[in-house]
Amino acid sequence: MSARSNPILPGATLGVLGSGQLGRMFAIAARRLGYRVHVLSPDDDTPTGQVADVEVKAPYDDLDQVAAFARNVSVVTFEFENVPAATTEACERFAPVRPAGSVLHTTQHRLREKSFLRSIGLPTTPFHAVHTLEELVRALDTIRAPAVLKTAAWGYDGKGQAKILHPDDAPRAWDSLKTDEAILEGFVDFESELSVVAARGLNGDFVSYGPIGNTHANHILDVSVCPAGLPPKLNEEAIVMARAVLEALDVVGVLCVEFFLTRDGRLLINELAPRPHNSGHLTIDACVSCQFEQLVRAVCGLPLGSPRQHSPAAMANLLGDVWQHGAPRWDAALAMSDVKLHLYGKQAPRPGRKMGHLTALGESADGAVQTAVEARDRLSRVP
Ligand code: AMP
Repeated sequence: MSARSNPILPGATLGVLGSGQLGRMFAIAARRLGYRVHVLSPDDDTPTGQVADVEVKAPYDDLDQVAAFARNVSVVTFEFENVPAATTEACERFAPVRPAGSVLHTTQHRLREKSFLRSIGLPTTPFHAVHTLEELVRALDTIRAPAVLKTAAWGYDGKGQAKILHPDDAPRAWDSLKTDEAILEGFVDFESELSVVAARGLNGDFVSYGPIGNTHANHILDVSVCPAGLPPKLNEEAIVMARAVLEALDVVGVLCVEFFLTRDGRLLINELAPRPHNSGHLTIDACVSCQFEQLVRAVCGLPLGSPRQHSPAAMANLLGDVWQHGAPRWDAALAMSDVKLHLYGKQAPRPGRKMGHLTALGESADGAVQTAVEARDRLSRVP
C-alpha cells in the first residue's frame, strides 16, 4: 500500500484552494470532524479564511507560495474549477490533489467537457466548436437558432454567454464574447433543470443526492428542492449517468452533474462541476452526511457517509439584492422554526452576489419550497 492510499485521519491538516462559500462549508465540515484547514486564495478575510486555521493570501500563479502551502497539508482540494494546471501540479509534488488535476482540465473547458461526455456515450445539448465569426455562421447551419454561444473557458452563472435568436444575431453575439474559443449550443426548451451531486471515495465507493430540482433567476440558481418529484425511472437514469461520469473521470471527491429535462422526457447533461454545488446545500440540514462531509471523507480516503435524506427540503439563495431596502429582517425568517439560515461572512452585499442561503424542511417538497420562499420574502418585508 503506498503512503498516498493510507487514510488521512482527524487531526491532520487539509488544504483548500479557493476561499468562497464552498470552501467555508467544506472547512466547517472538516473542523467538525477534527481536521485543521489551510486555505489559499488571492484575498483575505474570506468566507473560508474566517473559519480556517490558516489563511494564505497569494495569487494562484505564485508557485513558490503554492508549494509552501502544499508542504504544510496532507491533501489539497479546491472549491472552484478555474484553478490553473500549474497550481495543482505545484501542489501535487508535496500532497495528493483530490479530485486530480486531470478532472479540472476536463471540466474547466466546455468543449473538452462536452467532448468527454460524448466520448463516453452520454447525452449533451447539441454543440459545435467556434473560433471565428465565419465558423459561427457555418455552425448555425447545423445548430439552428435559437442557440447559445458560450466562451469555452471561464464561464459561470450565465456570464460569457450570448443568446442567438436569429442567424443575423451572429456578429453581435461573437463580438460580445471577446474570445477566440467558444461553443455554440442548441437552446434547449427544457421542462426543468435538475442536478445530481455525487461523491466517490478513494476505493471507488459511490453515493449520490437527488436528482435535485433547480430553478434559476437571471441565470443564477434561485431555489433547489429535493425530492424533485420525477418518475423513479428518470431518477435512476440521472444517477446512473452521474455514476458513469465520476467513474470515467476517476473522481475522488464530489462532483455535480447538471441536467436539462426536455419536454419529451429526455435527460441532457448541461455541465459538470467538480466540487460541491449550490444545489447540494440542502444536504447540510436534510441528510445524514452532507456534500461537504462527503468531500472531506473522500479526499481523506475514509469511508463515505450515508447520503440518506431524512425529510423533504428546499433551499432559497440569498443574493445581495436582499439587502437593497436595508438590513434583512433575520428575526422574521428565523421565527419560522423549520428554516435554517446560512450566511457566508461576506461584507459587501452587491446585487447578484451569493451572500447566504435558507434551507426549509417540510412534510412535502412543495411545502418546503413554500416555506423557504416565504422565509426569504420575510427578510425584506416591511414590518
Ligand atoms: P451554464 O453556465 O451553462 O450552466 O448556464 C446557466 C443557465 O443558463 C442554465 O442553468 C440554464 O438555465 C441556461 N442555459 C444554459 N445553456 C442553455 C441551453 N443550451 N439551453 C437552454 N438554457 C440554457
